[in-house]
Amino acid sequence: MNTVITGGAGFLGSHLCDALVCRGDSVLCVDNLITGSRKNIEHLLNMPNFRFIEVDITHDEIEKHLPFVPDIIFHLASPASPQDYIRFPVETLRVNSIGTEQCLNLAKRAKAKLLFSSTSEVYGDPLISPQKETYWGNVNPVGPRSVYDEGKRYGEALVMAYHRLYGLKTYLPRIFNTYGPRMRLDDGRVIPNFISQAMLGKPFTIYGDGKQTRSFCYVDDLISAFLVLVETDYHLPVNLGNPDEFTIIELAEKINSITGLNLSCEFLDPLPDDPKQRRPDITLARKILGWSPVVNLDEGLRRTLNHYLEKK
Ligand code: UDP
Repeated sequence: MNTVITGGAGFLGSHLCDALVCRGDSVLCVDNLITGSRKNIEHLLNMPNFRFIEVDITHDEIEKHLPFVPDIIFHLASPASPQDYIRFPVETLRVNSIGTEQCLNLAKRAKAKLLFSSTSEVYGDPLISPQKETYWGNVNPVGPRSVYDEGKRYGEALVMAYHRLYGLKTYLPRIFNTYGPRMRLDDGRVIPNFISQAMLGKPFTIYGDGKQTRSFCYVDDLISAFLVLVETDYHLPVNLGNPDEFTIIELAEKINSITGLNLSCEFLDPLPDDPKQRRPDITLARKILGWSPVVNLDEGLRRTLNHYLEKK
């Protein structure tokens, strides 16, 4: 298969590049490196079936740089951590709107499939739990997180419009908090923050009372779901995540117990519009993909910690 991955030098993108290069696909990795990093794909640069181009898809056409006619486009480019998308608000809106449109036009011309990385953030601060795909969400359209939430909601709408108008084969995974090696330790998300705090022996920073919940999925589980999803004909949104739900305080306790440390928690002001609960209902993914996550939080955190300790 000839594959284009936008955001291929990012956290998820680089793991997807690994999986596809390893199975023998020809991979074109496209990234503007605003939040991605060449380091994430350095080990692939000498592979004959891998190519990287530093291109901003909101300003430059991918098509000019294509070494092949793609069979599938994975559109993963977007800042994804709240700290990053609040720092790059306009870029976030543009890559999910203009960037998505460019990818869809390319998919249409090439008769390629397209996967758009959507997110649990489309549910906003959800009023029901767990969240099913049929829930329409509770998003503040003008808050600081709206650039991401509304960008992804717009992206989903655009993908559905192309699917309906032109019969494009499209996929809309809604990705719940995913973690693992290669997240930037300074990307501001809770797992990299807690890991870097553990490595420095500093207290865990907790925004608000720490009773808010998240459900964390190990990156390998997510990538396997992507690979199964694009072999199906299922075009509607599908939740991908690990349904095991933890409070942020429980996450801090877990890192203490895995590392044998006894770090305290420093409670800071809550973040605006921070969702209070998040847990995917993955009944649909189990049914259509025969998939469910296999790496539990203890194991995934151990693997992630080892990655950073090896790099130290
Ligand atoms: N969080 C925290 N301390 C940190 C970073 C994040 O308490 O150092 C909280 C944050 O307020 C949120 C949860 O952890 O409730 C998950 O945040 P993250 O940025 O990882 O992802 P989100 O699910 O909010 O996109």
